[in-house]
Amino acid sequence: GSSVSDSKNLRVKLVLLGDSGVGKSCIVLRFVRGQFDPTSKVTVGASFLSQTVALQDSTTVKFEIWDTAGQERYAALAPLYYRGAAVAVVVYDITSPESFSKAQYWIKELQKHGSPDIVLALVGNKADLHENRSVPSQDAIDYAEKNGMFFIETSAKTADNINQLFEEIAKRLPRPTF
Ligand code: GDP
Ligand code: MG
Repeated sequence: GSSVSDSKNLRVKLVLLGDSGVGKSCIVLRFVRGQFDPTSKVTVGASFLSQTVALQDSTTVKFEIWDTAGQERYAALAPLYYRGAAVAVVVYDITSPESFSKAQYWIKELQKHGSPDIVLALVGNKADLHENRSVPSQDAIDYAEKNGMFFIETSAKTADNINQLFEEIAKRLPRPTF
């Protein structure tokens, strides 16, 4: 469910899911603050960050972004976290096949228990580490296609495709009809 301020301005809850260490917090910090700090152990924590995307048709989407403080380790807590989310961004690390398997687990969980109209995005992060790639892009493309979801590879480090990720999600949100 999206919330609406008016017909031109959407406000939506977005959650990030995925293995610990895949770069969820770095994606958020890159998108919201334009920063990447490889040394920081910053956890965005319980509060959320927000950022607004303006689309060409002059509508805006304000994302209220829920980043976990490591609760992704406790699967039982997940439903509390993604309840009411209009968007779930499921992240894996392109150098980690385990994290890709875990992403598929989260997607199944969201398909079973998430909002029926939830927009799902599959994100292969750390694309800058392509020399150590162990998840072929084609595997993720095929998986995403089968599951009717959007897929993109990003790098929070170089900023590659970070804004595109959120813009594409904004475009795919169901629009309220008045
Ligand atoms: P989280 O546990 O999913 O929130 O992961 P973090 O955002 O804390 O990132 C985990 C580690 O991966 C940190 O050491 C980051 O510096 C590193 N990292 C995150 N994104 C990228 C990226 O796009 N490229 C590279 N090379 N490292 C990244
Ligand atoms: Mg984190």
